[in-house]
Amino acid sequence: PSFDQFKLNKQLLEAIKDAGYSKPTPIQEQAIPLALAGHDVLGIAQTGTGKTAAYVLPLLMKVKYAQGMHPRALILAPTRELVMQIEEAVQTFGKYTDIRYVCLYGGLGPKTQIEKIQEGVDIIISTPGRFLDLYTKGNIFTKELKTMILDEADKMLDMGFMGQIRAILEVIPVKRQNLLFSATFGGKVERLSHEFLEFPERVEV
Ligand code: AMP
Repeated sequence: PSFDQFKLNKQLLEAIKDAGYSKPTPIQEQAIPLALAGHDVLGIAQTGTGKTAAYVLPLLMKVKYAQGMHPRALILAPTRELVMQIEEAVQTFGKYTDIRYVCLYGGLGPKTQIEKIQEGVDIIISTPGRFLDLYTKGNIFTKELKTMILDEADKMLDMGFMGQIRAILEVIPVKRQNLLFSATFGGKVERLSHEFLEFPERVEV
């Protein structure tokens, strides 16, 4: 297997090469073509499997760079640490694009985050609480969101974010592509996946 087998553009393939990735991991091999084809994806994969690139690469193919003022994609993650790891992947693979993104998380004042949003962003990477907080205060326009990704969904539910995730689903467009990644697939994640995903393709490693 090779990254050339996917319908990724030159900017992404070059960035993948720079990152030193010689071939896709199993989760990437399965999830990338499905996500590129526009399917909802349920990915059961642990950290360390390459799950982040499995959704970031298709997302960077889909989201038109630096277009308009409003975000087109939302990635939710349980912790500030994971938000920052996802940012690193977006930065690594987006290095030859002019993709604009912002990371939102609690623990520090929202001023810089709000300013970044106001400059115009394509992708928001956030914890559920801070996203809802800034949305409620009128700082995030959600009507143009076309892709939503939940990473480490099991951890988000363990941390009690179900209510906040549901509240976010209420305020974003119904017509969108959804991807859900989780290390485990238990009762709570299964329930969330039924609410969140439409005819998902399931991939598991
Ligand atoms: P993740 O499971 O997304 O947290 O990724 C785990 C680690 O694997 C990260 O440090 C990635 O940079 C690395 N990684 C992901 N995909 C590949 C790949 N295809 N080849 C080499 N390293 C990779």
